Amino acid sequence: MKLISVAIDGPVGAGKSTIARTAAERLNYIYCDTGALYRAVGLYCHRNGVDMNDPSAIAVSMGNINADIRLVDGVQRIFLNGEDVSDEIRLPEISMAASAVSAVPAVRSALLGLQREIAEKNSVIMDGRDIGTVVLPNADVKIFLTAKPEIRAKRRYGELIAKGKDVTFEEVLNDLNQRDYNDSHRAAAPLRQAADAVLADTSELDFGQSVDLVCGLIKERL
Ligand code: C5P
Repeated sequence: MKLISVAIDGPVGAGKSTIARTAAERLNYIYCDTGALYRAVGLYCHRNGVDMNDPSAIAVSMGNINADIRLVDGVQRIFLNGEDVSDEIRLPEISMAASAVSAVPAVRSALLGLQREIAEKNSVIMDGRDIGTVVLPNADVKIFLTAKPEIRAKRRYGELIAKGKDVTFEEVLNDLNQRDYNDSHRAAAPLRQAADAVLADTSELDFGQSVDLVCGLIKERL
């Protein structure tokens, strides 16, 4: 049977991971959240006091990092040097660390093979920033998922508060704008819509409608 790959890219808080995970369950594909890999590298650098403003120090650290994605009961877990760090990588300070390390070409090239391997072995919905442009340029379906910044920040704020995190809406909005700026202005694999990706704006949609939209776009294109 032919393996299918679906690339979903977009800015922070567009709902990529929750929408893609649910769509993958519905279509019986594997879901792969590539941001988790950059977060694992960011976590390593954060823990080890690596200077986030020093790309060569970050590049050298890659020699000590083994970031791996494993499926445990069908759910993606992320391992850093054998340790399951799936929960710790979600801390807000690790988001910014991930954004910093993701601009370093040595980090991107070290993580590329693993992402492609997952798509070579499975039918997958993979989300990130450069999946349609760099990681899977021949993906069967490419979707660029977005929503207005205030709406994305509101959703992200709600998620963090629900998890008991002590954050303000302004902090969440600033973090989101800063990461979007970093991700779209870096030289290495910047965030942008692939020429052959379809744009999906979920600003006016609730979660269920967003999943229906994504599943509909996938089915329509296959
Ligand atoms: O998707 P998530 O917010 O978890 O990603 C964390 C960070 O990892 C992003 O802000 C981005 O800088 C980086 N990233 C990336 N390329 C990807 C996925 C994530 O540069 N494919």
